[in-house]
Amino acid sequence: MCIFCKIIQGEMPTKKVFENDKIIAFHDINPQAKVHILVVPKIHFINVDDMRQEHVEYLTECFVQIPQIAKRAGIKNGYRLIINNGEDAGQLVQHLHIHLMGGEQLKIC
Ligand code: AMP
Ligand code: ZN
Repeated sequence: MCIFCKIIQGEMPTKKVFENDKIIAFHDINPQAKVHILVVPKIHFINVDDMRQEHVEYLTECFVQIPQIAKRAGIKNGYRLIINNGEDAGQLVQHLHIHLMGGEQLKIC
């Protein structure tokens, strides 16, 4: 089972900030911004290349909840969303996730 599936199953401790039937969000273990949260669909697929119709509602739910997750985390003036999709993008965990970063002025990339 992948590491994020273990977190979803409650088999691995995490600093959870939000959960419902379709998604979970928790603090990144190695934050790259003042606030760095991972928003994760509760269905295993690797990335956008691996996405099928049945995954769409889970990914949509991520985007529906992100504004509230950001607000509750104290993010006020915008945030950055990143999906590292595949090897050349540096995807390390093979379960789709959205990086939600903010809480400070981020460098333009
Ligand atoms: P990516 O390169 O997009 O696959 O990013 C994977 C992210 O997952 C990295 O930012 C890691 O710091 C983060 N990460 C890995 N394991 C954990 C964990 N157990 N809890 C929270 N974040 C994690
Ligand atoms: Zn998984």
